Amino acid sequence: MAVDCCADCGVSLGTRMGGAERCVACERNRLTRHYLALLPEADEGEHERLGPLRRKFLASVREQFGRRGKLTEKQFLILGEIYESLR
Ligand SMILES: [Zn+2]
Repeated sequence: MAVDCCADCGVSLGTRMGGAERCVACERNRLTRHYLALLPEADEGEHERLGPLRRKFLASVREQFGRRGKLTEKQFLILGEIYESLR
């Protein structure tokens, strides 16, 4: 079995069983970018479908991800829930 490295940050993934190309943190960041790209911006109509708490959450998460380049696990999970709720 091959030992591979994360395609984004280069950390060793050890002995892989599946076909993962990234470590968990990079995979999460990739999904976060995907969610944020598809979730509505504040000036888009779809944004109205989010309640005030989710709108506020989304704005703060966008800001934090832009500044720090990552979210906490909790934030990531909530973001995923919001994304699913709009699909
Ligand atoms: Zn990585």
